[in-house]
Amino acid sequence: MVSLGVVAERVLEEGIVNQMRELLLKQIEVVKSTVTERQDSWQSILYMDELADRLGSKLMVRVTFISPQGKVVGDSHVETADLARLETHARRPEVKEALQKGTGWDIRYSNTVGVDLFYLASLCGAREGSQLVIRLAVPAGGIFQAKARLKAQMGGIFLLGLAVLFLAGRSLGKKLSEWRNEVSRDNLEALWGELLSGEESPVEPGVHNIKVKLRESISTLREAKDRLEAVLHGMVEGVMLLDPKGRIQIVNSALGALLEARVDPVGRSPAEAYRLPGLQEAVEECIGDRRARLLEIKSKGATGKVLEVQVSPTPQGGAVALFRDVTEKKRLEEMRKNLIANVSHELRTPLTAIRGAVEGLMDELPEGLQQTQRFANMIHRQVLRLEKMVKDLLDLSKLEAEGRLSESKIVEAREIAREAMESVKEMAEAKGLELQSSFTSAQAHVRGNPRELEQALVNLLTNAIQFTERGRVVLRVEAVGNEVHFSVEDTGVGIPEEHLPRIFERFYRVDRDRSREKGGSGLGLSIVKHIVQNHGGRVEVQSTPGQGSIFRVILPRSGGEEDSKL
Ligand code: ADP
Repeated sequence: MVSLGVVAERVLEEGIVNQMRELLLKQIEVVKSTVTERQDSWQSILYMDELADRLGSKLMVRVTFISPQGKVVGDSHVETADLARLETHARRPEVKEALQKGTGWDIRYSNTVGVDLFYLASLCGAREGSQLVIRLAVPAGGIFQAKARLKAQMGGIFLLGLAVLFLAGRSLGKKLSEWRNEVSRDNLEALWGELLSGEESPVEPGVHNIKVKLRESISTLREAKDRLEAVLHGMVEGVMLLDPKGRIQIVNSALGALLEARVDPVGRSPAEAYRLPGLQEAVEECIGDRRARLLEIKSKGATGKVLEVQVSPTPQGGAVALFRDVTEKKRLEEMRKNLIANVSHELRTPLTAIRGAVEGLMDELPEGLQQTQRFANMIHRQVLRLEKMVKDLLDLSKLEAEGRLSESKIVEAREIAREAMESVKEMAEAKGLELQSSFTSAQAHVRGNPRELEQALVNLLTNAIQFTERGRVVLRVEAVGNEVHFSVEDTGVGIPEEHLPRIFERFYRVDRDRSREKGGSGLGLSIVKHIVQNHGGRVEVQSTPGQGSIFRVILPRSGGEEDSKL
């Protein structure tokens, strides 16, 4: 309202001033025409003052004639005799402006007349030396009166507005304080009880609406909570929910049965509540990088359980950990591994004895007993096959048991490839196959056990030769970014697509009879997979039946010093 008042005052003032100026400009034209006629008398103060008096009383304004030097030569409101005593008017704003621009105006208090005056001055005569400034003045009281009236009215409206605001505010405040009293601390408990029990007590309509809404929200929340609890406590897996700071918020009953907590876990970190090495770090890392992780933890304490724990980030910035008891599964797995290892180990000795005996028998057999010789050869072949199978099983057991590298050093990839090629050279020649190698010129190093890596390549090359009747087998070694790729390519029978996902399983063979006939154990690719996994790598296979296969072993490249130079 204040700024509105200021703007209104400006607009009003400008309107009145413009109107006054227009009026005075018209009157000054009349004066000008009279004065111009008597240009010869401009120097005569007697004449000019008398002319000013006359025009002033006719037009009902104050008329002043001023020489360009500022000397007053006539004024309708000053006696002729007093004119000489008037100070120079050259510095009056309106006169200065008129001398510069032709016309000028100003509003100010006049000492001569004793009121506020509106002055308008205009320059008369074109030539310098014969010029005269005509100035008209009228009381400016109208403007100030109008402004004062406007201010008074605006003030009134302002006060009225304040009063309305005050009354409205007071009534709203009263209403709010009534509501507040209704829901004050004292009876909040009662209201809460009422809301939960569904009872009704007479209240303000506004409060009633709030109560209805609250009751709806409470029942929705309660349902959601019940559902969540039913799911949580019905789960076989242990569940632990953690907030973004890594503090435990919820644990379900299954977790309680799985793990013994040292203290009440809620509100504490996993490390404070449970004796589970590695869990705290996994939770912190998961909250930090928002990525899920799977870990196996052996719990400390009497039970010594083995737990599989999946830690995943939650949308709220915390984490949720799922615990599965895999103690029994691990125990059985261990038993199976031990059984295989033990049986294979036990079989080795009798097999070696049988082979020795058969080989001795074959040497001793007299000529001519063809049938017996045939049987002896058959026994020999099968014993060799059995021996290979037992050896493969033992190798596999060892690789599984280690789960990581037993021996590790930095080796040059091409070196391993060359050794493997050497081992299968004769076999390829015997089948009339072309055995080729293709190595990239740069050296590439891998970290690992050279014996095992060579075995993996020999297994792949043996398969390639066995399952190829015509054409060639190629071993490629390439450095690709941070990896080293060993590819074994053949032009053999290939593998139908549906078998590809399973060929790395133990004893899996695409064509059983054919494999058996070739003396395969079905363990070769399992061994390859285990070796490569223990080296932190992976195996890939591509194959087209009738055209051939490509098996690719991909290992992380180890930055040997020579590598960085090349
Ligand atoms: P096997 O001792 O029978 O060769 P592997 O585990 O080495 O056992 O291979 C599993 C099966 O995968 C083989 O029986 C064969 O059917 C198939 N296979 C492996 N390599 C090749 C290959 N290069 N070409 C075609 N089939 C292959």
